[in-house]
Amino acid sequence: MQIIKDPLEMQQIALAVRAAGKRLGVVPTMGFLHAGHLSLVQLAHERSDVVVLTLFVNPTQFGPKEDLAKYPRDFERDAELCRTAGVDILFAPEAGAMYAPDASSYVSEEKLTRGLCGASRPGHFRGVCTVVAKLFNLCLPHVAVFGAKDAQQLRVIRRMTRDLNFPIEIVAGPTIREPDGLALSSRNVYLSAAERRQALVLKRALDEAARLFKSGERAAAALRAAMEQIITQAPAARIDYIEIVDDDTLEPVPTLTRPTLIALAVFLGKTRLIDNAVL
Ligand code: AMP
Repeated sequence: MQIIKDPLEMQQIALAVRAAGKRLGVVPTMGFLHAGHLSLVQLAHERSDVVVLTLFVNPTQFGPKEDLAKYPRDFERDAELCRTAGVDILFAPEAGAMYAPDASSYVSEEKLTRGLCGASRPGHFRGVCTVVAKLFNLCLPHVAVFGAKDAQQLRVIRRMTRDLNFPIEIVAGPTIREPDGLALSSRNVYLSAAERRQALVLKRALDEAARLFKSGERAAAALRAAMEQIITQAPAARIDYIEIVDDDTLEPVPTLTRPTLIALAVFLGKTRLIDNAVL
């Protein structure tokens, strides 16, 4: 496995891989890897000859009061996991190499980012779109793999890729969970033992919404009320949002008549967790 830190060296390697007629797959991450990330590496392997995992804790997607400084990092462990997973190139640039001090160009998606995490985290998706566009230009992939766990992010990146004509296929991998249902997340390490137990309310609420839906309930308000009731039973939980939105437009729907995304963000203590399901 090659470890590349210099963005322009990454781009030169990508050009050489493409010139040799090989397919490139990229898995963008912020590191502190877990089985969710590695499942995306597997999907990238199935669709390409050379797999690049990018590891970059992108400062421009963190708000001023968010956890950029304390975001968990362990480069040696990540590199070992990448080797074991058969990653060909680990691209791990420094922030200073990615952004010039006077960088002033950004990529914004302006519709799908209005609600959900876009509303709770102003500027977050501008940072995400900007860094993903830069990673696309540096890694020049044929295919890029993202997790369904970050539902809004996946839809925003698909939209950006279409709107800006990146010649890249966007592939989604399913959410990988702990045996008890908690979605894997690098941020789970922040949870105390009590918060970790109570974090199960996210999946429980989604399962209850799915159960009600299967039994014929179509009113978004009824699903939301049932989810709220489950989450508020956990003393450490504070709901950031529960949104029931059209899966394509991400606009709120009163009644479930088309594929609908149920997305939620819940604080457990200071840790903000997200999860979602499509009904
Ligand atoms: P992150 O390092 O948290 O920015 O995530 C990098 C990529 O891994 C994103 O495409 C995420 O959607 C994806 N991802 C994170 N957690 C999971 C999970 N539990 N299952 C599948 N993919 C995930």
